[in-house]
Amino acid sequence: MSDTVSGPLTADSIAGAAYIVAALLFILSLAGLSKHEKARAGVIYGITGMVIALAATIWLTLQDAWGTGHGLTGLVLLLAAVLVGGAIGLWRARVVEMTGMPELIALLHSFVGLAAVLVGWNGHLEAPDLSADLRAIHHAEVFIGVFIGAVTFTGSIVAFLKLSARMKSSPLMLPGKNAINLGALAAFIALTVWYVNDSQLSLLIVVTLLALGLGWHLVASIGGGDMPVVVSMLNSYSGWAAAAAGFLLNNDLLIITGALVGSSGAYLSYIMCKAMNRSFISVIAGGFGIAAPAAADAEDGEHREITAQATAEMLTNASSVVITPGYGMAVAQAQYPVAELAHQLRERGVNVRFGIHPVAGRLPGHMNVLLAEAKVPYDIVLEMDEINEDLGDTSVVLVIGANDTVNPSAAEDPGSPIAGMPVLRVWEAENVVVFKRSMATGYAGVQNPLFFRDNSQMLFGDAKQRVEDILRVLAEFPAPASPQQLNFR
Ligand code: NDP
Repeated sequence: MSDTVSGPLTADSIAGAAYIVAALLFILSLAGLSKHEKARAGVIYGITGMVIALAATIWLTLQDAWGTGHGLTGLVLLLAAVLVGGAIGLWRARVVEMTGMPELIALLHSFVGLAAVLVGWNGHLEAPDLSADLRAIHHAEVFIGVFIGAVTFTGSIVAFLKLSARMKSSPLMLPGKNAINLGALAAFIALTVWYVNDSQLSLLIVVTLLALGLGWHLVASIGGGDMPVVVSMLNSYSGWAAAAAGFLLNNDLLIITGALVGSSGAYLSYIMCKAMNRSFISVIAGGFGIAAPAAADAEDGEHREITAQATAEMLTNASSVVITPGYGMAVAQAQYPVAELAHQLRERGVNVRFGIHPVAGRLPGHMNVLLAEAKVPYDIVLEMDEINEDLGDTSVVLVIGANDTVNPSAAEDPGSPIAGMPVLRVWEAENVVVFKRSMATGYAGVQNPLFFRDNSQMLFGDAKQRVEDILRVLAEFPAPASPQQLNFR
């Protein structure tokens, strides 16, 4: 039998086997996360894969360090990094509100980008001794890794600033923005060819600055309504940045994991673009080809207000109710009373369903997670496409903290910045009650004509408190054996 089959187990071969197991667990994790019922198992696969990957990497690093006589220093540095990073990660994950998740994810993507830049720079400064052909490949890996990493780094920081409202969500419209992006890309290609032939440090500095500027500009140029695509696109970029670092570090697992994140993130961006009727290329190219929106010709007018008491009475008289939640439900943490309201109305024989817009909230699946947390049965939670046709026959729609996702100007005003984005057509219902605190615009910064429609009424205040007010009114009229009509008009 040959040595390769019967030879002693080396540190590399054991770590390689552990990496294959971890990679399989990551694939199972992605598969699990694509379905509600299997999501928990998906998370467990992911955690297990990450523990195996981390243990194998630490072990391998220590083996190398001991071999070179730096074992103790390596161990201390590794432990310090794992303890500090782990403690900060654990603390942030424990305290973060559900509404703060997207900005936390954006910040974490920026770390992946920064790590790829540092690995690339290290690859330049500590260049291994290689043959001419391999050296050219190494230089290309360094340059491309630094470019992707730096774009991901600043792009994710802008996304973090926009998502946490530290920066305006409206698009930055620099004159000639498309030419800037295309010029930066052309400069990158030219610089890569130059660097592969002549690896000067100055070229690496130039590409780092160029990519930092490009990342900033790409994401700053995208308006609030398209931010969901940007978040998944940065997720994809961070995967490619990790894969690039994997090539430089000769780490197969990093390459596989990076490619998994990169391709699944790209596919998610594509699905979201389709759901939002946006051009994929135009969004990943920083709003390429999207003209500056015409001066807002916002429909205004008189809005009408309604009380919690009158809403409760309207609901008990309704035959069908559709609840369309949005970001405000997450802010108010109103999912529990909303679930209770749905339960109470169903007890009274009202047909209650939820209509979920694919980008409601601030991260994909945000509303589904909140409703699942509040134990709303899956079968009454419908996607936008499933519920839209029924809205015209619905007695009451409760818009709970949603705004952009129910904005008629997306469907009716071609000059609107959110024109063409599919929305929940709630205005077709007999009555619409909008729960929000003020007449403020939604995330895309666009006024919502729904609020001024004849069949709409505003129920101002914190969504959780208002829904609890309605529940209190309902408690005064316990569910009858057969649904009883309360006369309120
Ligand atoms: P919007 O962000 O458009 O609007 C949310 C509304 O909730 C606001 O108008 C606000 O009005 C109201 N609100 C906030 N807090 C409360 C509260 N405590 N009680 C009651 N109301 C409250 O929400 P949508 O979900 O409709 O749309 C999501 C937007 O976010 C889209 O533009 C989408 O593109 C974007 N986005 C989505 C991401 C995703 O992956 N899902 C990621 C990034 C962006 P007021 O202040 O008056 O109360």
